[in-house]
Amino acid sequence: MPAQKIITQWRILQPIHFVLGLLILLTVTLLLWQHYGMNLYLRFDPSNFTKVSANDDRDDGEGKSIGQLSHMPNYWRLNCQLKEGHRSPYCSIDLDLSNGKQGVDFSKYTNITIHFRYQNLREQVNLVMINFNPKYSMEDDYRSQKFNEIYLPGAMGWSTHSIEWAQFNVASWWIADRKIPPNWADNEFTNIREIRVSTGLYPKKMNHQIDLAYIELRGKLINNNTLQLLLLLLWGGSAAFWLITELRRSIRALQRSNQRQQDLENAQLNLQKTNQLLAERSMRDPLTSAFNREGLSVLLANEPPNSVLSIIFVDIDHFKKINDQYGHAMGDQMLCLLAQHIQQQIRPSEKLIRLGGEEFLLLCQHSCIAQAEQLAEKLRLWIFSQSWPTEIPLSCSFGVAERQPGESFEAALHRADLALYRAKAGGRNRVELAK
Ligand code: GH3
Ligand code: MG
Ligand code: MG
Repeated sequence: MPAQKIITQWRILQPIHFVLGLLILLTVTLLLWQHYGMNLYLRFDPSNFTKVSANDDRDDGEGKSIGQLSHMPNYWRLNCQLKEGHRSPYCSIDLDLSNGKQGVDFSKYTNITIHFRYQNLREQVNLVMINFNPKYSMEDDYRSQKFNEIYLPGAMGWSTHSIEWAQFNVASWWIADRKIPPNWADNEFTNIREIRVSTGLYPKKMNHQIDLAYIELRGKLINNNTLQLLLLLLWGGSAAFWLITELRRSIRALQRSNQRQQDLENAQLNLQKTNQLLAERSMRDPLTSAFNREGLSVLLANEPPNSVLSIIFVDIDHFKKINDQYGHAMGDQMLCLLAQHIQQQIRPSEKLIRLGGEEFLLLCQHSCIAQAEQLAEKLRLWIFSQSWPTEIPLSCSFGVAERQPGESFEAALHRADLALYRAKAGGRNRVELAK
């Protein structure tokens, strides 16, 4: 496979794939390690443990049981002589685990193995784990400790028993004597101060011999339940972390997309405004800002055909003189001023259009000819009475027409033009009505 292709295939992998792979690897490693390794091990035998003693009832003066411990190279031997009237626990081998007041926590181990020889097939060995807990135990009362026990049968030759904690029972005499409530009556191995291996219940009055080779505890650094919980937390935590990361990523992507949409909408709005501005500009005369011929056609397109409409043709009198005497620039300024003043005098329904040169048109919507004439007269007087930058008095001539029903705009305009012509011919600075 070519190198380029391999690289491309690797690219489809995302961080989540690596994390998932890592989690699987970690899980498998932990499971295998826990299964084959992570061993906890504790052993008591004559080679490594010395705090061993024999126990009998001689200490309280009766001496009905006499226990004697011998230290053999590979085991401890208990010889126990029992007479009538001996007291419990008869004879025992006691392994003292207490270090000051502290015992050993056996709960981290899962099972215990004992290797012993008690060649008495009718008798049993009593294995007892003695646990101290301040909830029910007192330092000066040995029997206030909890007695977790199990009975193991005697056999020919050496025998080995592997026992789990659940197989131990709490001695019933202890529960009864101590009036222990049920919630404290379960076996308990968190603080074992002593292991006791003794003759069983009701042993025969004879000589007994128990050889103890070793007691072994085995367990795992992390037990099954803890490992399951750990893995659950690991997977659950990773999934939650991934979900939160994905959620945050999606929110960020959504915010980015919203922002982009907002930007697009703004750009569209700006474009619309620009278009509107351009459209308005194309309808206006750049010098006077009055509508131009393009604007006029738009205004007419929006005008209902049979509505009341009057037009006033306006032409500046002897405008050529202004240009000639004061120059074209002054002529332009006068055109601007005149347009500006007319705009201030008219209503929103009356529109000023520059047809070209010094010719203007007033489009009066909803106005009859009388109203248009009134406006023309008002404007004429006002223009003539104003003082202008030039010394030549400024006047305008007006031709007024009302569009007749069924008449086209062009025809009405023509009649207004004729009226204007009459105004010019009649001496200028006049208003003439169309016929
Ligand atoms: P009348 O009273 O008969 O209308 O006389 P008039 O001089 O106003 O009319 P005429 O048609 O003889 O002259 C119009 C003049 O208007 C000619 C031209 O120099 C001037 N003119 C046309 N357009 C412009 C413009 O945009 N700017 C300036 N400054 N002058 C213009
Ligand atoms: Mg003219
Ligand atoms: Mg003129």
